[in-house]
Amino acid sequence: MTKRIGLFGGSFDPVHQAHLALGRQALAELQLDELRWVPVGHAWQKARQLTPAAQREAMLRLAIDGEPRFVLERCELERPGPSYTLETVRELQARQPGRQWFLVIGQDQFAGLHTWVGFEQLLSLVTLAVAQRPDARLDADARVLAAPHVDLALPPMAVSATDIRQRVADGRDISALVPPAVAHYIHQQGLYRGTAGS
Ligand code: ATP
Repeated sequence: MTKRIGLFGGSFDPVHQAHLALGRQALAELQLDELRWVPVGHAWQKARQLTPAAQREAMLRLAIDGEPRFVLERCELERPGPSYTLETVRELQARQPGRQWFLVIGQDQFAGLHTWVGFEQLLSLVTLAVAQRPDARLDADARVLAAPHVDLALPPMAVSATDIRQRVADGRDISALVPPAVAHYIHQQGLYRGTAGS
């Protein structure tokens, strides 16, 4: 049987419970052999400065520990220059030919996917799996909508990393929003205490 691999990219600054719920749903619904979590190296579409990669990676490791089908994929951290998903997919597919590849994204990313570098080539290499997200635009570019995609059956969850950073900056509780080990790490490292940004 062809192995089925999901890719789930993000800034994960920090990784949170909606990411994990989405990851578990993708594993189950797409019958994945593994889901690769791909922390972005150089986020060309985010205006703010991200938390250093080593800390984002550490939080991700804590969060995905215990689910053997969740795998950390470091290729964007190692590759210089902006992290284009197309390049990531090409690199991983060259390394492991003959698999079936899914790209797991939230609705906000789906709505903006036509702005990604080489999106049409990207769409020819992967099947999109899309999760609803509260407040995200429900439409997308016609060329994106024309590509085969799976709508993941996950109820919308109002969790965002932006809100979590703001909560920490305000001294509010985040224990329901991230796994306990991640909350501990954030506090121990003193992350997000300054202005949160978006
Ligand atoms: P930020 O608030 O900093 O922009 P974020 O919460 O959107 O961060 P990212 O790391 O940028 O998190 O997201 C990684 C992926 O997870 C993206 O495809 C995004 O659409 C998806 N995602 C994040 N939060 C949710 C959510 N609550 N529901 C559905 N998808 C989500």
